[in-house]
Amino acid sequence: MPKTLNLTLSPKQAASTEGWLAIAVRTLGVRREQVALARVVKRSVDARHQTPKVLLTVEIFLDGDEKPQEVHFDYPDVNGKTEVVIVGGGPAGLFAALRMIELGLRPIILERGRNVVDRRRDITQIHRGVKVDGESNYAFGEGGAGTFSDGKLFTRSKKRGDYNRALQTLVFHGASPEILYEAHPHIGTDRLPKIIEQVRHTIIRAGGQILFERKVTDIEIRGGKAVGVWCGEDLIEGAAVVLATGHSADDIYEMLHRKGVLLEAKPWAMGVRVEHPQELIDRIQYHSSDMREWLPTAAYTLTSQVNGRGVYSFCMCPGGVIVPAMTSFEECVVNGMSASARSSRWANAGIVTEVRPEDFAHLHEEWGVLAGLKFRQQVERHAASLVGGGGTAPAQRLADFVARRRSFDLPRTSYLPKAVVGSGDEWLPEFIAESLRGGFKSFGHKMKGFVTNQAQIIGVESRTSTPVRIPRDRDTLCHPTVDNLYPTGEGAGYAGGIISAALDGTRVAESIAEKLKN
Ligand SMILES: Cc1cc2nc3c(=O)[nH]c(=O)nc-3n(C[C@H](O)[C@H](O)[C@H](O)COP(=O)(O)OP(=O)(O)OC[C@H]3O[C@@H](n4cnc5c(N)ncnc54)[C@H](O)[C@@H]3O)c2cc1C
Repeated sequence: MPKTLNLTLSPKQAASTEGWLAIAVRTLGVRREQVALARVVKRSVDARHQTPKVLLTVEIFLDGDEKPQEVHFDYPDVNGKTEVVIVGGGPAGLFAALRMIELGLRPIILERGRNVVDRRRDITQIHRGVKVDGESNYAFGEGGAGTFSDGKLFTRSKKRGDYNRALQTLVFHGASPEILYEAHPHIGTDRLPKIIEQVRHTIIRAGGQILFERKVTDIEIRGGKAVGVWCGEDLIEGAAVVLATGHSADDIYEMLHRKGVLLEAKPWAMGVRVEHPQELIDRIQYHSSDMREWLPTAAYTLTSQVNGRGVYSFCMCPGGVIVPAMTSFEECVVNGMSASARSSRWANAGIVTEVRPEDFAHLHEEWGVLAGLKFRQQVERHAASLVGGGGTAPAQRLADFVARRRSFDLPRTSYLPKAVVGSGDEWLPEFIAESLRGGFKSFGHKMKGFVTNQAQIIGVESRTSTPVRIPRDRDTLCHPTVDNLYPTGEGAGYAGGIISAALDGTRVAESIAEKLKN
């Protein structure tokens, strides 16, 4: 049995294996030569003190202790096995496919976008303000919205075992083993595409299929059962249909609504991205910028209540960039990402507030359950129209926004193609602008120096999750009125983020395997 130690260390002590191992060996009263293996199993930073501390949990294996087993995944040959159609190759769809293979089913993934290599070229065109390919962009394409992202791997899932297995699956496909013990693991946009490619190789090697540039336009329902999907003129049949289409596939919700498939409205959140100089966030969080030599790029999580409405930071990207995440140049949608080193000079985060069905009551009569979707589209299109589209985003200095002052210019930004000065009160609905203003004031009390004109808000952070849920039975995970139809992931309303979508896809695969067994 290894010895487990909890160590509270200075950032410098924790930064090198020799540094913490010397302390661990002394604490245990053993000699360095007796140590056969030493590994970190958990690492977090406690920055509440004037000098931040690093909390390490380490395992020390001495000579004679049994070593930990390497985690291995077995993906058997599924050629000729029962076929299941998966619509969407994001984390939910890919993890559903991997689990199906383990359980002896043959997944066929239909993905509207391109593979990661071609997709990168399409994304460059967006950054240059040239064009958005409606099928290949930050939201659509191999790996889904998670591929060109920060790759933060948080989840609120209570099932630790499932979470660890999802992380191990990523390590098996090339992610750094560090993600297994970091308190806030992340992969980075420079490494994610390679991992996604490896997942594709696993699926194809086992006999599964991934077809790109295959946009699903309809579902074939016979006798109350989903039996396949249409990609234009082609029908692709399967024993079950998994819908893993993410939160940007408005056409999928519209198609389901037209067919009379039951949908539900749900609350979600919208707001802006805020961008600060990273050095300022380091100084606020670590009480000095010198600590950066030993500590990770500083992050923050902020929450507040303003007039009964939650306002919170979302998807914070330390050392990252703000990206144009729209699926058309008629929309303005921003998000954030970072590379593995998190070394850009900026820190950004979504600052968003709850949006509830009563906020767009005027749209219910015309649009019914799709009213939230229409509201989101209207806000995104209004912002784009104010700045002329083309990927340009409206922006305002943060302290000016909070004080209701006009900004005359903007600080430098990571955002491409371009940010232009405007007023948050013009591009945001009033209730959102007011909630954000109250939230920022409260964040300024929690983090002294946060509300500054060195920072700016950029709009619009609108796709935090989906305004529509595709319902399913709690136990079988199947749609309640269309048999064999399995909605999953963020677009269906059951996940928010890469790992929770992956876990949800895994669960759906298990439910399908269970059903098809009987
Ligand atoms: C820039 C950015 C940064 C992000 N950073 C993080 C982060 O750091 N950590 C985190 O946890 N989350 C992050 N997210 C959110 C995360 O990416 C999503 O929560 C996650 O990808 C949802 O997974 P999903 O599989 O449910 O859907 P998606 O990833 O959206 O995948 C859906 C897939 O379905 C495909 N599709 C849609 N319609 C059709 C159709 N009709 N036919 C065929 N295919 C279709 C799409 O092309 C897409 O590939 C980020 C998102 C963005 C955009």
